Amino acid sequence: MRQFLIALLIFVVVGGPLALYRQWIDVPPRWNPWAPLDLRDTPNWLTAYKLRRLQGDAELCRTVLDTSALRYVALPDSTPAADCPLTNTVRVQGSEMRLSSSFIATCPVAAAFALFERHGLQPAAEQRFGQRVVQVDHVGSFACRTIAGSQRRSQHASANALDIVGFRLADGRRISVLRDWPGEDDKSLFLRQVQQAACSSFNTTLGPDYNAAHRDHFHLDMGGFRMCR
Ligand SMILES: [Zn+2]
Repeated sequence: MRQFLIALLIFVVVGGPLALYRQWIDVPPRWNPWAPLDLRDTPNWLTAYKLRRLQGDAELCRTVLDTSALRYVALPDSTPAADCPLTNTVRVQGSEMRLSSSFIATCPVAAAFALFERHGLQPAAEQRFGQRVVQVDHVGSFACRTIAGSQRRSQHASANALDIVGFRLADGRRISVLRDWPGEDDKSLFLRQVQQAACSSFNTTLGPDYNAAHRDHFHLDMGGFRMCR
């Protein structure tokens, strides 16, 4: 009996993943850890893992970006500043939304942004205002620098982060992190909802409640630390 249970355990632990990997059994791609992420699919517990896989694989990452509405140009690896080489980056030009300006980002940041737009930001805007966000206002992604007040390299030094300061709705209304975060009206509740949504796409999401340096923007990055504050 004991041997049978051990055999059964081995079958499940080894056989299951192997069968998935070899495609002996047919599982929808969104439940298959080896299938590339499709940014149109509703996120599930495999999504964070699939996003992480994009870090070292530019080709896979660009295939994944092509499942979104993101308009982007793939960039060759470069060293725009001596201490800040850029690898696996793209220039994001827009999506179904406009951007206040195009920005350079690592491909995983671009993928997380597309995921955030489709599954977090736009549903929040539809729910609260009955309309869509048509523009994202940001203050940049790449800056060859350390974290303010620290010796540690910022995720911005590798274009692995994006700072968003506000949103514009289809009817022209503007929502600003600095002005609208405090309070309890629709705009502030929207911003809180948007921050929570960002937390499920990006590894790190920091907002005005984190510290004074973030009182006017959401910092979103794909660095190693999982933080949502
Ligand atoms: Zn930042």
